[in-house]
Amino acid sequence: MPSTLHTNDSPATIGRLVDIGIPPYMLASSVTMVLSQRLGRRLCVHCRQPVDYKKEELLSFGFKEDELDELVIYGPKGCSKCNGLGYKGRVGFFELMEVTEEVSKAINAQVPEDQLRKVAIKEGMTPLREAALQKVRQGITSIDEALRRTVAHKESLPAYLVNPDEEHYEDGDVILREGNNDKDFFKLLRGAVAVVKDRKKIAQLSEPGEYFGEMAAITGEERTASIVSIGRSTIKRFPGDKLEEVIEKYPEVSLHLFRSLSQRLQKNNQMLMKLAGQRK
Ligand SMILES: [Zn+2]
Repeated sequence: MPSTLHTNDSPATIGRLVDIGIPPYMLASSVTMVLSQRLGRRLCVHCRQPVDYKKEELLSFGFKEDELDELVIYGPKGCSKCNGLGYKGRVGFFELMEVTEEVSKAINAQVPEDQLRKVAIKEGMTPLREAALQKVRQGITSIDEALRRTVAHKESLPAYLVNPDEEHYEDGDVILREGNNDKDFFKLLRGAVAVVKDRKKIAQLSEPGEYFGEMAAITGEERTASIVSIGRSTIKRFPGDKLEEVIEKYPEVSLHLFRSLSQRLQKNNQMLMKLAGQRK
């Protein structure tokens, strides 16, 4: 029996069904597919016109590097046929999540929504955002409509966020240097690094997933300390000049960044309190 729920996309629907009390094992065994649909406005074919976008913009929308040369994107103009609106009629964006064996396993294991989405995409699901971009490629709707009616998930994030450069360091290697003006920020994957100021080690980071170096990207000021590898370490490098774009467009990612920032501030506070206590 088909039923209707209002959620962001198909993987989110599963979470919503669990929220309202349906046991995951039941969903895993009885749901065969979940269809999500969004309606966008259809460009008027009589007056639509090509619009130029910068390469970086197109990549941030979710288009792929190797399609950019061929890509023609249309936008609205307005004529007598469309009452000057530039749009006439509607177009549907569809996302069909089939509950395959793998998807069923993931639902049963109650994996987080992000993970379920990843599995579903691997099993052939075209995410809503991608379905909308497809209609943009075909000249049926505009970028504005595609972006307004669908949300981007990690799977459609730009490459610099999904696959940032991974770097390996040996003991004593300097990852970033006090006084430099570079703006990249980093995430520790393996190993540990020391925070060094005036040749003195003032802190150590060894928690996998911890971010560092983001202060320079936020304030635009020079590095206030060096970061040196302790033993072998592996880090991911994020381009600092993209930080504003990340904050603006990918709140989920910036949330992680701000979490590590505030955790660090909290640690510093505790240290200050301790020091103040010792002075008494
Ligand atoms: Zn028109």
